[in-house]
Amino acid sequence: MADEEAGGAERMEISAELPQTPQRLACWWDQQVDFYTAFLHHLAQLVPEIYFAEMDPDLEKQEQSVQMSIFTPLEWYLFGEDPDICLEKLKHSGAFQLCGKVFKSGETTYSCRDCAIDPTCVLCMDCFQNSVHKNHRYKMHTSTGGGFCDCGDTEAWKTGPFCVNHEPGRAGTIKENPRCPLNEEVIAQARKIFPSVIKYVVEMTIWEEEKELPPELQIREKNERYYCVLFNDEHHSYDHVIYSLQRALDCELAEAQLHTTAIDKEGRRAVKAGAYAACQEAKEDIKSHSENVSQHPLHVEVLHSEIMAHQKFALRLGSWMNKIMSYSSDFRQIFCQACLREEPDSENPCLISRLMLWDAKLYKGARKILHELIFSSFFMEMEYKKLFAMEFVKYYKQLQKEYISDDHDRSISITALSVQMFTVPTLARHLIEEQNVISVITETLLEVLPEYLDRNNKFNFQGYSQDKLGRVYAVICDLKYILISKPTIWTERLRMQFLEGFRSFLKILTCMQGMEEIRRQVGQHIEVDPDWEAAIAIQMQLKNILLMFQEWCACDEELLLVAYKECHKAVMRCSTSFISSSKTIVQLCGHSLETKSYRVSEDLVSIHLPLSRTLAGLHVRLSRLGAVSRLHEFVSFEDFQVEVLVEYPLRCLVLVAQVVAEMWRRNGLSLISQVFYYQDVKCREEMYDKDIIMLQIGASLMDPNKFLLLVLQRYELAEAFNKTLSTKDQDLIKQYNTLIEEMLQVLIYIVGERYVPGVGNVTKEEVTMREIIHLLCIEPMPHSAIAKNLPENENNETGLENVINKVATFKKPGVSGHGVYELRDESLKDFNMYFYHYSKTQHSKAEHMQKKRRKQENKDEALPPPPPPEFCPAFSKVINLLNCDVMMYILRTVFERAIDTDSNLWTEGMLQMAFHILALGLLEEKQQLQKAPEEEVTFDFYHKASRLGSSTMNIQMLLEKLKGIPQLEGQKDMITWILQMFDTVKRLREKSCLIVATTSGSESVKNDEITHDKEKAERKRKAEAARLHRQKIMAQMSALQKNFIETHKLMYDNTTEMPGKEDSIMEEESYLKSTKI
Ligand SMILES: [Zn+2]
Ligand SMILES: [Zn+2]
Ligand SMILES: [Zn+2]
Repeated sequence: MADEEAGGAERMEISAELPQTPQRLACWWDQQVDFYTAFLHHLAQLVPEIYFAEMDPDLEKQEQSVQMSIFTPLEWYLFGEDPDICLEKLKHSGAFQLCGKVFKSGETTYSCRDCAIDPTCVLCMDCFQNSVHKNHRYKMHTSTGGGFCDCGDTEAWKTGPFCVNHEPGRAGTIKENPRCPLNEEVIAQARKIFPSVIKYVVEMTIWEEEKELPPELQIREKNERYYCVLFNDEHHSYDHVIYSLQRALDCELAEAQLHTTAIDKEGRRAVKAGAYAACQEAKEDIKSHSENVSQHPLHVEVLHSEIMAHQKFALRLGSWMNKIMSYSSDFRQIFCQACLREEPDSENPCLISRLMLWDAKLYKGARKILHELIFSSFFMEMEYKKLFAMEFVKYYKQLQKEYISDDHDRSISITALSVQMFTVPTLARHLIEEQNVISVITETLLEVLPEYLDRNNKFNFQGYSQDKLGRVYAVICDLKYILISKPTIWTERLRMQFLEGFRSFLKILTCMQGMEEIRRQVGQHIEVDPDWEAAIAIQMQLKNILLMFQEWCACDEELLLVAYKECHKAVMRCSTSFISSSKTIVQLCGHSLETKSYRVSEDLVSIHLPLSRTLAGLHVRLSRLGAVSRLHEFVSFEDFQVEVLVEYPLRCLVLVAQVVAEMWRRNGLSLISQVFYYQDVKCREEMYDKDIIMLQIGASLMDPNKFLLLVLQRYELAEAFNKTLSTKDQDLIKQYNTLIEEMLQVLIYIVGERYVPGVGNVTKEEVTMREIIHLLCIEPMPHSAIAKNLPENENNETGLENVINKVATFKKPGVSGHGVYELRDESLKDFNMYFYHYSKTQHSKAEHMQKKRRKQENKDEALPPPPPPEFCPAFSKVINLLNCDVMMYILRTVFERAIDTDSNLWTEGMLQMAFHILALGLLEEKQQLQKAPEEEVTFDFYHKASRLGSSTMNIQMLLEKLKGIPQLEGQKDMITWILQMFDTVKRLREKSCLIVATTSGSESVKNDEITHDKEKAERKRKAEAARLHRQKIMAQMSALQKNFIETHKLMYDNTTEMPGKEDSIMEEESYLKSTKI
């Protein structure tokens, strides 16, 4: 209200004489028409006097004067009575809803792992000690400064949002008016005063002129006193600044040190006072002494002494405002309203936004006070926090860009406030709905990242600046904050805006899909190891964000299907070069496949495939919702192109295999590191694991023989499985053997790894339990070691505590050392030697440990796979890989080579893997036979394995042979186990025929006897319903698979089956097939 008017003439008049006591001054102000003008006039007279001695101030005296001549009068004016009495009353009246204590750097904060909505919700020590959470699982942190206590925020805590002190209606505040509203007069006064205060604070803080004050403050004769002011930056070392100051100012070491410490703490400091020219000279000197080849000069300015004084006081006034606002919610609201009011007829944003936008230009000390001002006003009042957040999002892009080019730490940037807003669930939802904040953040990224784009519009971080990219991560982090709590209610608008954001996010992933491609180096070693950290670091940053996006998409079927369609489209757009490349034909045992003639060992390959992996994630969620059969409504069969989807993840796995086979050793350490992280716990969920899932998707939708031919081709092993292959080249043999092992392992994973909800019928807890079991199969481990090896979710939780006691027992520490968890005996049966998260070393350690244990228990040494959980219907076809012709051919070839004394193309490891696959096939058939009548079980692993190959022996006969080889003594128990399993399955097949026959025969008789046994009948009905349901889903899946094959029939049919070596097998096999029918 008192903002704009008041011309210059009036101003001169009121200056005549000022009342001497605070009380009188307050009265006098009361008589003035325009408080703002009167207030400014008062300041114009006093501030330059009080803050005159900038270089060597008497702080105590300064504070006393300010208090006496400015703050006390203001308070009198506000309350209309003695402020001390009034504030005392207020102090005891209002229970604060929120604690809001702002943390200093280094202060300890507490977060409850059971109750915090996310890990950014913290308590100060007082609140924590007085809360229920001290008896829960909690984490302690050291604050970097700038955050505040969330006690009292009901959105931050699942339970116990208040400590004893902040609980509403506690602490003796149960009067009629628990919040003690201020009387009308005080409120009216606050409405008069606060706008003037904030306006002055903002105007002075963002004042840019170095010589002139705003006219309304320039009422005195202008003096010729200036300061040379040095600013803090994060690049110059302490010593360098001291050195530059000593040189430029020709001062003592002690003085230079004093200045430097103050600059580091406050952000700026006057280092010289004097006439303009002298200060200007000092400025140039400091600049030239601090500049060198690698560093910019220090930031120095020359400022008029009165400007310096007013700026200093403006901050002091901000702190005063903070204090006043802590007394009343009404005060806070009035202040916020003043900050948000847009000036009429002005292009300028509201005051608070102007401050925000100026933030990056401010020095440290100023920022700290202004952020505190925001904390103690906006962030204490939910409604205004929302309005502030909306302003923040409005200018988000600009703020982030300025932060990125700024050199101050994130903790003192206004952008660091995002966490306080974005993690509040209702606020996040509001910002998505109303301001499309997901898109705002991703668009910001899309604008700051292009400097890293290469010719193909893919990111390339070679020669990047770590600091700068670190600042970009902060923006990525905001995405995480926004997504951290999944909405429970979806409005139409929320869905729309979320999808919009998702689309925008896909654009970023598109720039990452296939980025930093590499080519195998032959002959010479690469000259310089390329940078790899940046790309991997981004991947790490994105891991949980990717998972959260997938989870949000999975909120309902419709949303998921649309998101799937978008993602699929994006993957396809990135695959055009592959689709147009030339073709080749692979053949083996009567099957053939036409595919693109791509070779990982020769062509470009990238391990960055976030689009493909997101799609795999969405597919799994589609399966979890049971909606895969609806997919074709959104992506037509023609467009689906499963072999294109599989292609890139497959290449990535082949790359890993070739690295293990040392084919890429000339590409240096950079690649080794990337491959390490690809499978490491920090990345694997959104890299390696998803690639395996994509292959499982491929295996579930493609013809199994074609799928295996594709795998063989990409592993560059089609040759190696050609029976005529003979080579004496030891290196090549070694290479082939490693590649075959790697491929068999991946095949084991495709068929056996079902511990992902949506791939197999498992829960999240079961997945975590399995991870823990496998870690403890290596050796007993302390809590920390287990936690380190489990992936953390967006809340930095591993889920470890919920399940650990189900699978392990804690063994207390001895005199020294720490306690460890030991696996429970009943969990040992779940050990899978080819657990896909084992590293090579872990694998062999675990194998060794488990064999040793079995020996000690006088058991055989066979370590067959544990029976895997059932695949979800969408993935059920994967098992057909096990009993298809090409798989049989592969297994048989491995066994034959092991028997053949002339062949070097096998290893014991390879044999073990082949045994494992055999075991998986037999287990599958056994499980199926136990569940359904024999004639319903079409999975005929037993029959396929029992057939004669091109050789004279079937697999069982080959196994008998292997058993007799002395060098394979170590495998004897496993072979015995498999042969027994063959028997078991055989007997099951025979027996179940009998059982079916007998039960159906006696049914009529029996039924009469049990008609009263309703329960039993009901159970049976349910079982039957379940069976029918299963059958229906299977039929759907079959139709789906058939459809995919149909659609690509052209591709499959184009390849004429070439008669050749394998002719005989094919004949034989088709013969057997027909006899079975
Ligand atoms: Zn607190
Ligand atoms: Zn509290
Ligand atoms: Zn708690």
